[in-house]
Amino acid sequence: MSIADKLHDVRETIRAASLRSGRAGDAVRLVLVTKTIEPERVREAIRAGQTDLGENKVQEGRRKAEALAGEPVRWAMIGHLQSNKVKDVLRFAGEVQSLDRLSLARALEKRLQFLGRGLDVLVQVNTSNEASKFGLAPADVPGFLKELTAFDALRPKGFMTLARFTPDEEEVRRCFRILRQIRDHALRDAPQGEVLSELSMGMSGDYGIAIEEGATVVRVGQAVFGPRALPDSHYWPGAPGTEAADRTR
Ligand SMILES: *Cc1c(COP(=O)(O)O)cnc(C)c1O
Repeated sequence: MSIADKLHDVRETIRAASLRSGRAGDAVRLVLVTKTIEPERVREAIRAGQTDLGENKVQEGRRKAEALAGEPVRWAMIGHLQSNKVKDVLRFAGEVQSLDRLSLARALEKRLQFLGRGLDVLVQVNTSNEASKFGLAPADVPGFLKELTAFDALRPKGFMTLARFTPDEEEVRRCFRILRQIRDHALRDAPQGEVLSELSMGMSGDYGIAIEEGATVVRVGQAVFGPRALPDSHYWPGAPGTEAADRTR
């Protein structure tokens, strides 16, 4: 199947899951994850109408965004971000989904003030309670949201998580439900109020489940581009096949 055909299938699956969860067919945004994929193949997806793209690593994202300059796309940074990479990430990303600590918020704010622009951000939460995963502990989210109000250039839009890597569907759903509860509490109690509506959760293996549990954004790569050659452990700690993952089994 071509990239356009696979993209079409994924969009249909998203649409069906959205309707199943009582929402409009276009209620869920697809961020197409392009890590390890060459610009020419990404361009096929863009030609098939894809506008939201996601990268996990700053240098790879920057290179790809430069190769695809002029295309009508918006890049999201979805991987762990070091504060010393802030300058580079802001060269291409219109959104950072992996905001997980105050020092990073501070570094982003400083650079954004210099550039005179704002940035959409999602707060990454560690819903699986694995020591290996990035993200705030759920209990730390309300305090973090209060502190974020000090940063004028950051526009918090909601939350992002990676579910536990397990074939146990109930366990995966539990992670998504935790993020949804955090979002629902934030909508009610956080100073930012009702703008914190986004839930970025679900990847190739579980985006249907994530949408059933309320995802408004899914991050999908392999379901469109096929299996990656590089193991997931290259992109995040705790992925299957890494020591950290083996410890949690
Ligand atoms: C790679 C990645 C995804 C997409 O994973 P696929 O298995 O390719 O769908 C989603 N989120 C993050 C943070 C990623 O790094």
